[in-house]
Amino acid sequence: MSVLAAEDFLSKEERQQVSAAIGAAENRTSGEIRVHLEDHIEDEVMDHAAFIFEELGMHRTRDRNGVLIYLSVVDRKIAVIGDAGINERVPDDFWNDVLALLKSHLAAGRRVEALTEAVQMVGEKLRDFFPLKRDDTDELSNEISFGGR
Ligand code: CA
Ligand code: CA
Repeated sequence: MSVLAAEDFLSKEERQQVSAAIGAAENRTSGEIRVHLEDHIEDEVMDHAAFIFEELGMHRTRDRNGVLIYLSVVDRKIAVIGDAGINERVPDDFWNDVLALLKSHLAAGRRVEALTEAVQMVGEKLRDFFPLKRDDTDELSNEISFGGR
């Protein structure tokens, strides 16, 4: 086992920064963003992230506009998945652009920037297609979730 566990990937303060970035993004869109961290996975990352997406109930938002940013911290496997509502609206290369942003920050060791900037980028895109509605609720927690717990 590696010494780097998902829960040690960010400090408590950094986790709060990520949650705050999600909250700020969601103040301008009905879309919902989650960040999920795991230690290590054997599976193909997109398949696994799709499984986590379901497990977190992210397919149950009213407008089908949940977006999951997934990272296994040991393997540095990342995935960004949007639900049907947002996925059918963004250009095909948008998710790859978010992945590229994540990768470049992670390669330079900028963990919190990787996540907060990816959240901002996704938030801006969600805002374009799903502006905030008057009756908005926080459909999915803004806290980072961790695998296997
Ligand atoms: Ca919301
Ligand atoms: Ca939320």
